[in-house]
Formats: sequence, C-alpha cells, structure tokens
Amino acid sequence: MSDVPDRIRACRHCAPRFRATASAHEPAPVVWFERGARILVASQAPGMRAHLSGKPFDDPSGVRLRQWMGMDENTFWDRRNVAIVPMGFCFPGYDAAGGDIPPPKVCAEMWRKPALQHAGDPPVTLLIGGYAQAWHLGKGKVTDRVRDWRALAPRVWCLPHPSWRNTAWLKRHPWFEAETLPALQSAIREALA
Ligand code: SF4
Repeated sequence: MSDVPDRIRACRHCAPRFRATASAHEPAPVVWFERGARILVASQAPGMRAHLSGKPFDDPSGVRLRQWMGMDENTFWDRRNVAIVPMGFCFPGYDAAGGDIPPPKVCAEMWRKPALQHAGDPPVTLLIGGYAQAWHLGKGKVTDRVRDWRALAPRVWCLPHPSWRNTAWLKRHPWFEAETLPALQSAIREALA
C-alpha cells in the first residue's frame, strides 16, 4: 500500500463540491510533509496560488509567515525542516465576498490523523488560525490563544492567519510582533540547530 502522502495526493473526494464553486476547480491536494521534520505548520488550506503552483504558502501570506518565523524560502520549503499539514489539503474555492471558503471538514476527518502520525512529533508546532486551533485545542478565541502564547511555548504556538485580512489585527496587537515573534523565532532556531 502506498504511503500517506501519496494516498492524499491521489484523493479526489471533494470533486463534486469544488465543481460547484465559482472557480469550478478540480481537487489538487497540496501535500508537503515527510517524516522527521523539525517544525509542524498546522494551517488552514491552500489558496488559489498554491493550488496552481502545488507549493504551500507560495503567496503573500507565505511571505508574511516566513517573516514571522525568521526563515528564508529555501529553509521553509525544505521538507526536512518544515511539515505543512493543513485542515484541508485542497484549495476550497471562493465565497461570494472573494474570500476563501472554509476547508471541507471531511478532509480533516479522513486525513488529519494519518498525516500527523506520518509527520511524527516535531519539537515545534505552529497552529495557524481558528480551524487548526479548534481541532488541536478545542473551543477558544484566536486572539486569546495568541496572547496566551506562554502557556504552550516553546512546543506549541497559536498564531493568527498571516493573510492581509489580519493586517488590522496586527496593528491592534503590537505585542505580537514585539514579544511573541522574537520568542517564536528563538524556538524555531533551537529546533533547527
Ligand atoms: S480537500 Fe482533502 S478530502 Fe477533499 S479532495 Fe482534497 S485531499 Fe481529498
């Protein structure tokens, strides 16, 4: 039997759902993890750019995320360093306001446990956005969790989504860049050392 990444790459479960969206796209799972990575990025779902390129965080959100992590592109996209396991492996489509539709719940039900088991137990995990945080930690508010980073650091870090939509959030919460990010970058440097 093929291994977990190959089985996810071959998944077309959501084809009817995606064909019914405005973009009418086909499933194209973006699978970017292997055993033994040092950092786990538990994220939401690929955007349209990652859908087209097959590379996760290949967009402005990724630029911001790498800045937050203090990481260059080569280090970030080296699967020995970073495992990216989203709540949905495919681009889910756009809603009426032009935002991304939430990741289909069925994807986490089908693939999340085997994918995380395959990735192993990296010393640092980033939980990005409300969907990943709810799956890993249960109910809670993103801002409260991000503000309370010391409760889970240095192994687990709750972050807002690095989308441009959260630029106003970043301005309202300057402690995130002043205090949280230096501590996160220090934990990442240690995990990669
Ligand atoms: S989103 Fe997940 S479950 Fe749906 S087709 Fe893609 S890999 Fe399969």
